[in-house]
Amino acid sequence: MGPIPFDNTYARLPEEFYTRLPPTAVATPGLIAVNRPLAGELGIDPGWLASAEGVAAIAGNHLPEGAEPLAAVYAGHQFGSYNPQLGDGRAILLGEVLDEQGKRFDIQLKGAGPTPYSRGGDGRSPLGPVLREYLLSEAMYALGVPTTRALAAVTTGEQVARDRFLPGAILARVAASHIRIGTFQFFAARQDPDTLATLVDYTLQRHYPERANADNPALALLQAVIAAQAALIPRWQLLGFIHGVMNTDNMLVSGETIDYGPCAFIDDFDPAKVFSSIDHGGRYAYRNQPGIAHWNLAVLAQALLPVLHNDQETAVALAQAAVDDFPSLFEAAHLRGLADKLGLDEIRDADRPLVDELFELMSGGQVDFTLCFRRLFDLATEPEQPVAELFEFPDSFIPWLSRWRQRLDADQLTPETRTRRMDRANPAFIPRNHLVEAAIRAAEDEGDFGPFEKLLDRVTHPSPFAPEYREYALPPGPEETVSRTFC
Ligand code: AMP
Ligand code: MG
Ligand code: MG
Repeated sequence: MGPIPFDNTYARLPEEFYTRLPPTAVATPGLIAVNRPLAGELGIDPGWLASAEGVAAIAGNHLPEGAEPLAAVYAGHQFGSYNPQLGDGRAILLGEVLDEQGKRFDIQLKGAGPTPYSRGGDGRSPLGPVLREYLLSEAMYALGVPTTRALAAVTTGEQVARDRFLPGAILARVAASHIRIGTFQFFAARQDPDTLATLVDYTLQRHYPERANADNPALALLQAVIAAQAALIPRWQLLGFIHGVMNTDNMLVSGETIDYGPCAFIDDFDPAKVFSSIDHGGRYAYRNQPGIAHWNLAVLAQALLPVLHNDQETAVALAQAAVDDFPSLFEAAHLRGLADKLGLDEIRDADRPLVDELFELMSGGQVDFTLCFRRLFDLATEPEQPVAELFEFPDSFIPWLSRWRQRLDADQLTPETRTRRMDRANPAFIPRNHLVEAAIRAAEDEGDFGPFEKLLDRVTHPSPFAPEYREYALPPGPEETVSRTFC
């Protein structure tokens, strides 16, 4: 076997699912970063990955043994409008590997050249988005959020034409799979129920094998995806993460976060916040994310109708009932997470006003979301290195804080459990937008990857706080604030 222990299954699916083609070679590959721990988990020697041959493999200049490169086809709703033909326009799936637990992962090269699905695009990625995805996806992983990951990144030695010329790069992305809601939409729209059923069976086996023998596989899959997304989206809300492009082709049925395009973490809390330069209507604003996820899941349910039941009315009733479960599943997971953030065993009905008032105080007072919660961790657990030097609550919070303290005193959590849960739920370090932009600028303008490496190291250790890293915990100053992100 070659240096990447491929064990491919998507390439065994019927040819309607993809187009086979290799990556397009680039001028002069250069290593940016190798994710050594992840490589190790996937049975790939990190030394090989960083070698000339490994870098050439990530760049698409050398096809490693066992790779069966392909571009997958899918469709999707983009900002609410259906596009019947999308697909991997700038990504090539090399194949799959199994981790130490036998869990299957895709290895995909993003920015690997044009494919039949490029729709006039160049199939390439500038360096900035590659660094952004590397930083944000690895930060999300460290924060315990289901996500695709970054295995390695390389520069191409080529320029990419956008509004100006930018250095090109390629990201090797690892995902439980790249099967999207849009993948189901593609086959539903082609009125091809047999292929749709093949996709249902494949996806169930791959992601939800415990449900693979269900009487109604399509329903079992739909329910599993709804549960997975109802677990994922609260995690975004609880960290102030705004995805930015929640199109149905950017939502994975595995329940992992994917497509770190114009995404960003909130600094000052504002529920209407939007960063993406292309989201003019605020469709994907922070507060809209749960509702959009619900809508996207309804799209999945609709795509599955032909395989849910022979009788159309019964199929619709099954789909509707499954989709209707999302709000209560979301709510339960969100409350669970809020309890962890506030240091409580659970959020009871009587606690709702306390929670609502906190968010109202935050949004009314231009309060930093991350530091506000980290400071609650300080107050509840009295650590040695509090963030008090960076953030203190404004006076408007005083009555709220004393009510919260009373509620803490009445709670039954042991101090150890409270500390553990609050520390994990309230990180000190998130990939702040101004730091991400500064790291990208240093790499773009000066070829200096130092700021990227330092930021990566910090955001992959989101807590505890330590004073020597205060610059990574500080919100942006007025002239540093980044309010727009670009894909
Ligand atoms: P995204 O907004 O990243 O989810 O991309 C939406 C669709 O556009 C996908 O089918 C991508 O593969 C395709 N796409 C985005 N950028 C490019 C590009 N530079 N070249 C070719 N296809 C692209
Ligand atoms: Mg996408
Ligand atoms: Mg994208």
